[in-house]
Amino acid sequence: MSRFWSPLVHQLSPYVPGEQPKLPHLVKLNTNENPYPPSPAVQAAIQAELGADAARLRLYPDPSASALRASIAAAHGLTPEQVFVGNGSDEVLAHAFMALLNHRDAQGAPRPLLYPDITYSFYPTYCRLYGITPLTVPLDERFQIRVDDLIAAARASNAGGVIFPNPNAPTGCGIARSEIERLLTALPDCVVVVDEAYVDFGAESALPLIAAHPNLLVVHTLSKSRSLAGLRVGFAAGQAELVEALVRVKDSFNSYPLDRLALVGAQAAIEDVAWFEQTRGAVIRSRELLVTELAALGFEVLPSQANFVFARHPAHAGAALQQALRERAIIVRHFTRPERIANHLRITVGTPAECAALVEALRQIV
Ligand code: PMP
Repeated sequence: MSRFWSPLVHQLSPYVPGEQPKLPHLVKLNTNENPYPPSPAVQAAIQAELGADAARLRLYPDPSASALRASIAAAHGLTPEQVFVGNGSDEVLAHAFMALLNHRDAQGAPRPLLYPDITYSFYPTYCRLYGITPLTVPLDERFQIRVDDLIAAARASNAGGVIFPNPNAPTGCGIARSEIERLLTALPDCVVVVDEAYVDFGAESALPLIAAHPNLLVVHTLSKSRSLAGLRVGFAAGQAELVEALVRVKDSFNSYPLDRLALVGAQAAIEDVAWFEQTRGAVIRSRELLVTELAALGFEVLPSQANFVFARHPAHAGAALQQALRERAIIVRHFTRPERIANHLRITVGTPAECAALVEALRQIV
């Protein structure tokens, strides 16, 4: 607390990211990074940009990120005007909250933003930051997002927007594109943001719905399926009208979305489709094996379409399991809230060797 702080700051309780441990020998399965390195083309592109003396770093980067946006657009059948890039999808999402999800009705009363009651914990943080009223819609008994419940809640509350990850976090459960289409059609006056951070590991992307739905914004990250969490690149795709709103907010904040190295590195990652297919395939295969092995140890594992699994053991508390794994130099994520998931662990899919080490440690513990 400080008398020098703006009043808003007193109300903020910032998002707490997963631990980034300093010890090198840990098996790190806690923050959903990709266990494989990025495409070798990323390193080559960054080195080429740096050149022999890094002199190009004197110069500002391209403020419109046009080469990267053209590359993303070409990869997804979009136009560059339908693509917005930012410093990680967290920043892209923050701009979306400000530019597209912050609405009031004709009387000036806030129109709430809807999201599931178990979801990415950054959403409440952005609501506080931008003074948006959140309204949560419970997942069903199988931890699934129910589109009918979202539609009913949005109509009853005159919602100003809807946001959810697909697949959801931290559950890993996805919903079908046809369900998202039903939501978009039912709520034509509501912006629907689909956060597809993990979509490449097996869920159906909503990107093909953009052409027919002006109320859809799809957000992607290069942190997961492109192995570039350290480079901080994310993008949003939607009709040009929505993207224009993001650009206005971004330019008012910092007119350079990405630095020179991130621009060229991200473009190289997007263009190396073979590397992308190979590494995401390996992660999906490891996940399928991990799910089978955890089930054999008595874990209840939610169906995952992500690069992590969400599981609980009926005979062991989540906190105790997390601690026992940590004593064996394996770190996983455990959420104490909401109560309903307090016994679950969120385990990132690692390399086959990391998954085997995890399963062996759990065999000893349970
Ligand atoms: N959305 C979801 C659902 C996530 O889990 C994450 C990763 N924490 C992000 C967005 C943000 O990813 P990044 O900022 O690395 O692009």
